[in-house]
Amino acid sequence: MSRREYKTINRRLQRGRAASAKEGKYPCSRPPYGYERVRIPNDKGWTLKPKDDEAEIVRYIFKLYTRGIEQDDGSFRSVGTRVIGVTLDKMGISPPSTASYWTESTVRHILRNPIYIGKVRWNTKKRKKRVKDGVVSYERTSPPPEEQICVDGLHPPIVSVELFNAAQEILQRRGTAPIHTRTDMQNPFAGILYCGKCGRSMIRRSTASSSVLLCVNRSCDNVMSKFSIVEERILQSLQEWLNDYRLEWADGKSPDEQSSIEVKRRAISKAEKELDTLTKQLSRTHDLLEQGVYDTDTFLGRSRAINERMVAAHKSIEELTAALALDEQRAASRVNIIPQVEHLLSVYDKLPDAQSKNELLKGILERIEYVKDKPSPRKGPFDNFELVLYPKLPSAKK
Ligand SMILES: [Zn+2]
Repeated sequence: MSRREYKTINRRLQRGRAASAKEGKYPCSRPPYGYERVRIPNDKGWTLKPKDDEAEIVRYIFKLYTRGIEQDDGSFRSVGTRVIGVTLDKMGISPPSTASYWTESTVRHILRNPIYIGKVRWNTKKRKKRVKDGVVSYERTSPPPEEQICVDGLHPPIVSVELFNAAQEILQRRGTAPIHTRTDMQNPFAGILYCGKCGRSMIRRSTASSSVLLCVNRSCDNVMSKFSIVEERILQSLQEWLNDYRLEWADGKSPDEQSSIEVKRRAISKAEKELDTLTKQLSRTHDLLEQGVYDTDTFLGRSRAINERMVAAHKSIEELTAALALDEQRAASRVNIIPQVEHLLSVYDKLPDAQSKNELLKGILERIEYVKDKPSPRKGPFDNFELVLYPKLPSAKK
């Protein structure tokens, strides 16, 4: 199917969905948490029917958010979306779809969704694709109000309008910026620093008094650290790495690597010479056949043997050339990476924000892994973690 054709069909589909949303039908293919999608009797389209167990959880989330969690003394403590997520996880309630735990954004999404008071929304948010530095991201924008649809749906509500409005008030009062995005923008190691235990991202979380790096996976036992300590150690490791490199790779090549490059070069020229000799031999067998010295059988036997050796020589030249190119590429990128690391270390503290630090770090580091098994002792040392730095160098095959 051509791209244009797909776009046309997709647009037609979108129009069909908008029309069905206007009639209060449910226009999407996946039902929201708390509901199942059911066919409308004697009509086209779909609507929603509460799923008892999930609807119960939706009501519970709204109650927790608006009233708080009951304490042992019978009083209520107000809680945010994070604590609600943890509470649901502890109760063993499975999160929507395939997620492994309840995230803050899942909880917030439920609290904000007017589908639970029986409304149907359509076209209230649009996803706009953005490509920057080869990274695809999506921006959510709101279409103009006249293009947005929010009508009474055909489906029954799960929570009361009063409860829903109470939740909206708290959401607004507490600020709507999701904590994850806010912390990630503060994190110069975003997309670089990973948990060495479970492989997920390490995120930065800040409060007024402290800032920590922790594994995004709540069920992971990797222990968090103060952001400033990890940052300091990463820069220190880069400095040490740079010093070693300057010594060992002054011209971009170690003695070992230099000799391995020489060996490969010699092997290539040897194979080329052999190929040359074989070509001559092959042409001589032709001559000998023409002169009647060789009969056809002898000629075929000889030329086949020579051909086989030529194929082998070709193959080894190819392999050696590829290996040599990789060696030289690695040497070259080492030469390039030294000034890049030097630059990073000299300007890092003066850079205005996490974003610019992140860009420089991404230029020289593929990945950093962080592992910490025990909390730091009260009086230190605070760097009882292990960091593994993976610099951006072409790796050897195999
Ligand atoms: Zn982890």
